[in-house]
Amino acid sequence: MVEATGFDIEVDGGLWHECANRREWRCNWLVADQSGARCFACRLVRHRPPADDTLANEKLADALGDQHRLLVQLQSLGIPVDPWFEGDGGLGFDLLSSYSENRVVTIGHANGIVTLDLVETLDQVREQTRVRLGEAYRTMLGHYRHEAGHYYQWILVEQTRWIDECRTLFGDERASYTDALARHYESGAPEGWQDAFISEYATMHPWEDFAETFAHYLHITGVLQTSASAGVVIDAAGPVPPQPVRPRPSYGPDDFDAMLADWRWTSGFFNQVNRSIGKADFYPFRFVAAPVVEKLRFVHRVLTALPPTHIAPTDGFARRAA
Ligand SMILES: [Zn+2]
Ligand SMILES: [Zn+2]
Repeated sequence: MVEATGFDIEVDGGLWHECANRREWRCNWLVADQSGARCFACRLVRHRPPADDTLANEKLADALGDQHRLLVQLQSLGIPVDPWFEGDGGLGFDLLSSYSENRVVTIGHANGIVTLDLVETLDQVREQTRVRLGEAYRTMLGHYRHEAGHYYQWILVEQTRWIDECRTLFGDERASYTDALARHYESGAPEGWQDAFISEYATMHPWEDFAETFAHYLHITGVLQTSASAGVVIDAAGPVPPQPVRPRPSYGPDDFDAMLADWRWTSGFFNQVNRSIGKADFYPFRFVAAPVVEKLRFVHRVLTALPPTHIAPTDGFARRAA
């Protein structure tokens, strides 16, 4: 039973309060312990632009909406979120801006901290960059998912039994990143990259390959989960598939092939929806090459093998206001 009193909400006998960032950041999460506190997601922000940089601060709410979405998805997939403020190497976000002061902000991940450039929330800037780099897709949520991929490769793969298999599939991540970066921006992706990589950027270095694959895994599971929650059923005509396609809210360790089959029909359907209103494809990627599928399968295996204890929600993590 949910009962709202002002901005305090009673849920099953417990009192929850609005996050202190409800107005400034349009945060819709709740806090269990005390009124006037910031929620778990907002506290993951380690650095923000200076208070007098009003242009950048105006963009924080947009950027935080995608960050909250990422965290909800991590929680639903049972992926651990150990915050930066509870220990070195925990997850945190530096949301900075290269826009107002012409500062150089490099999007990336280091030691648990994900750095993003708020200028990417500006459509004209992000779209120009996308076209200049020849990318099929560029969004803030995509940046969050990609950088989260770097973080989770570091804690869930490089420090665990998965590392040898990961190197077999993605290559040795100890290869020089500086050399790889120079090579990529000089000569681009190698001919025939589609046979082994999910995107051109993934060809640059094994780390980028994993991060790109991880991001696509979150794209796939995120859309399937949303579709499932709305009861989407694709009753496709023709001999294949023989049954209506019903995206599921989650897919177990042995369900990877089913997930991929559901995804091909679901993304194909949404591509048609977008085309029917004159927009670019919803999911502008096609991966059929076996190595790409095996890399995605690896991410699925790593994530579905996580111990269930990791799902434990921290304060307010599980509760969101409307
Ligand atoms: Zn909040
Ligand atoms: Zn990257």
